[in-house]
Amino acid sequence: MARYTGSVCRICRRENLKLFLKGDRCYSDKCAFDRRSYVPGEHGQRRRGKTSDYGIQLREKQKVKRMYGLSEKQFRLVFKAADRGTGITGTRLLVLLERRLDNVIYRLGFANSRTQGRHFVLHNHFLVNGKKVNIPSYLIKVGDEITVTEKSKKVQAINDSLEAVVRRGVPQWLELEKDQMKGMVKGLPDRDELTMPIQEQLIVELYSK
Ligand code: SF4
Repeated sequence: MARYTGSVCRICRRENLKLFLKGDRCYSDKCAFDRRSYVPGEHGQRRRGKTSDYGIQLREKQKVKRMYGLSEKQFRLVFKAADRGTGITGTRLLVLLERRLDNVIYRLGFANSRTQGRHFVLHNHFLVNGKKVNIPSYLIKVGDEITVTEKSKKVQAINDSLEAVVRRGVPQWLELEKDQMKGMVKGLPDRDELTMPIQEQLIVELYSK
């Protein structure tokens, strides 16, 4: 599967938003977006004309897709699943994205970015309800317990991430027992608990064309 291999900071600058893709660096004065918050490239600082509705919807979709580190194909599959269920499609989309194991690992603080969360999951560092799960797209449920395997408790990068989680905090729908290296899913997030600046309705409109 083709994956973007360029500078991830360019993605934040392209989407005109800090997407927190690089862990600790995002909170430091080395953040490229804080230093140069204009679109990358030769003409990045030029004033742009009015963007079409389609352009606005497309940018919103690209932003969210990149925030969660998904390919177009993966993102569309999540959207289709959201569209099949009952309730507001846009909210369901965001909740499905949040329920991904790589995201939950990041949210709990075991990883300092979703990308790192994905790597950790792929490398068998976690158990869900006592069973090894190495699928980043695995969807967690209410009541699930996520633990670091005994062998992985010594992994420095996981310990470093846990130390740094204080800075961004763990969302209310999750609970972290840091000393035990264990996380619990207390519930699923409500829309107002998802505080990233996302206008999911634009994505629904884009895919409904
Ligand atoms: Fe984005 Fe983080 Fe890079 Fe800043 S440091 S531009 S928030 S990925």
